[in-house]
Amino acid sequence: MPDGEVGFKCLECGHWDRYLSKLRRHVAGRHSNSRPHACLFCNHRSKTSSNRQVHLRIKHGVVLTNAQIEEMERKKAEGGGQQTF
Ligand SMILES: [Zn+2]
Ligand SMILES: [Zn+2]
Repeated sequence: MPDGEVGFKCLECGHWDRYLSKLRRHVAGRHSNSRPHACLFCNHRSKTSSNRQVHLRIKHGVVLTNAQIEEMERKKAEGGGQQTF
């Protein structure tokens, strides 16, 4: 933050702006999609795929590789009614 200036700082990346409205726009544009990795079993979303693996293990007791998770997501998205699990 520049000397003698007041303003608002983004907690996600440290970006600073003098105006809250502008900072809000920055957050919405840059960080609204910052948790793209959705849990398969609940509404939890993770920032990174490895965070999601940790969540799955701790919250649901499931240990999966990212490849397995992506495969399950793909099948879920297809939603063809064929339950192969
Ligand atoms: Zn930011
Ligand atoms: Zn979950």
